[in-house]
Amino acid sequence: MSRLCVVCGGSKGIGRAVSRLLAERGFRVVVLSRNQDAGQATVTSLKGADHLAFSCDVSQEQEVQKTFENIQKTCGNISYLVNAAGINKDSLLLRARPEDMVSVLHTNLLGSMLTSRAALRSMLRAQGGAIVNIGSVVGLKGNSGQCVYSASKAGLEGFTRSLAKEVASRNVRVNLLAPGFIRTDMTAGLNEEEGARSIPLGRLGEPEEVAQAVLFLLLSPYVTGQVLAVDGGLQLAM
Ligand code: NAP
Repeated sequence: MSRLCVVCGGSKGIGRAVSRLLAERGFRVVVLSRNQDAGQATVTSLKGADHLAFSCDVSQEQEVQKTFENIQKTCGNISYLVNAAGINKDSLLLRARPEDMVSVLHTNLLGSMLTSRAALRSMLRAQGGAIVNIGSVVGLKGNSGQCVYSASKAGLEGFTRSLAKEVASRNVRVNLLAPGFIRTDMTAGLNEEEGARSIPLGRLGEPEEVAQAVLFLLLSPYVTGQVLAVDGGLQLAM
């Protein structure tokens, strides 16, 4: 297997921490995000010189198809994929705008399906690969004010388990990592003290702590179809 990993949403937050850890461990990293400059800035900060940034909106089928073709032409076989691109537009369901529902579902759920499909061809040909989807504990437990977001993440659980069954015979593994509250731009609006009170470990998580668990799932040859919560015990309290 090659050491090439595509990190969708690799320009910021959890995806950036994953990109950094993978680069430190000798992977070649391709960062995808809509904002090319932010992706490039992350790539410049990575250890090693071979990493690349591509601009790609994961919710757009043709864009995803073209970008993955480009990556394979430029870098060769993709062995690893991390689906960390995600957005939230939280509101009570009665106040949610249909266009926001569509963009959350298309980015978080459809996006991971499109990128997985595009990367899989390469993995199946090579008879080896691993995909880590980033869900959320909210997708496992539900949360008031996050109906659409949690549905997108719960959808990823079914997607992960089903795809794991589809591709296991070809030595491709698919797992879901479910973070709790992690300190990134996505949680910048959160009252940290209040949030921390609901977490058994008593604090928010750091993106680097999620990255360690992503690496574990990418490299564990006998783990597939699993959901791993990285949440300071939040799930126990929900
Ligand atoms: P973040 O800091 O806001 O980063 C999100 C990343 O996704 C950015 O690189 C962003 O780049 C990219 N992105 C967003 N929409 C995209 C699209 N349509 N196409 C391609 N890239 C896109 O968020 P984060 O906190 O690191 O979250 C990463 C993942 O973890 C998300 O799936 C999120 O739902 C999940 N998660 C986060 C937490 C948390 O507490 N932070 C908890 C549970 C789950 P561009 O904007 O340039 O596209």
